[in-house]
Amino acid sequence: MELIDQFLRKINYLRISVTDRCDLRCVYCMKEHMDFLPKHEVLTLEEIERLCDNFISLGVNKIRITGGEPLVRKDITKLINKLNLKKQNTGLKEITLTTNGTLLSKYAKTLKENGIDRINVSLDTINEEKYNKITRFGKLQNVLDGINEAIKNNIKIKINTVVFKNFNEIELTDLINWCNNKNIDLTFIEVMPMDETDMPRNMQFVPLDKTFEKLNKIYKLDKSKYKTGGPAQYYASDCLNIKLGFITPLTNNFCSNCNRVRISSTGKLFMCLGQNDYVDFRDIIRSDRGDAYIKEKIKFALSIKPKRHDFLINSEIKPYIKRHMNVTGG
Ligand code: SAM
Ligand code: SF4
Repeated sequence: MELIDQFLRKINYLRISVTDRCDLRCVYCMKEHMDFLPKHEVLTLEEIERLCDNFISLGVNKIRITGGEPLVRKDITKLINKLNLKKQNTGLKEITLTTNGTLLSKYAKTLKENGIDRINVSLDTINEEKYNKITRFGKLQNVLDGINEAIKNNIKIKINTVVFKNFNEIELTDLINWCNNKNIDLTFIEVMPMDETDMPRNMQFVPLDKTFEKLNKIYKLDKSKYKTGGPAQYYASDCLNIKLGFITPLTNNFCSNCNRVRISSTGKLFMCLGQNDYVDFRDIIRSDRGDAYIKEKIKFALSIKPKRHDFLINSEIKPYIKRHMNVTGG
């Protein structure tokens, strides 16, 4: 079984935000004061599992658990354990996680035992003070400890770094060297205009085509065929052991190769990160409708998956996306 959208793109990748809550408040992701959802609005772990079952039986073979911060969700490892068992008798091949890493030292071993072999850790700087500033109150050491614990447990780590104007632009080579010493691939991400934050988006955004040019002069980057299932374009260099990825939703659109959809923690299926349309599954899942109906709705959602996002950042306009990144995860 394959899920094909209206533009004939094969969709085999589901990202699920298991909570909108987070133990950090990264300035480009959230406002300082956020209203989080009451518990009854958030899907239970059983409801998430049922949605996953339907997607898997329609051809999804990769699931990413995200948030908010997925590791703050109580009993999240129980869901991961149940999903992991499905690899034995369904088409599901991989479960991965995107995390800020603050709780990784506590969870790394359990995650590995439950089939998580690769984790994306979001880390925008390796400077303690700057880390504290960008996350509003985070402690860098917690993340570093988490990364070390994950490596100790044979989990492959990739670092994701949002490049933020006048903040980490000038220290990207430090991050590259740090990752290179630890043998961890690194991906740079453009700020996306996901709703408003406390600072206008145009004061945050760095076009990564320009960053690429600068880094290319230093590292002589060679385009790589390496893929991890996401939108990053990877590059190798004779000066580096690691690959450098670039996620460029604004300066180099990648929507023609989109293979994924996202479910929010309340059960809204967003067919495109950069559009507002969604199909709501929570009421369906909480009614006495059966799985056949859920599958029909999933197919319908795919039939209206937008062709592309239209992200635009300038000082004149406010973001047209009316949700922050923690609603759907990265
Ligand atoms: N809390 C987890 C974390 O930080 O990895 C998972 C959720 S977080 C929303 C997922 C990814 O989205 C992170 O790498 C984060 O840096 C990125 N992100 C958040 N807001 C963003 C924005 N407006 N534009 C681009 N990336 C963003
Ligand atoms: Fe939390 Fe991740 Fe958003 Fe930072 S990027 S506030 S860690 S959800």
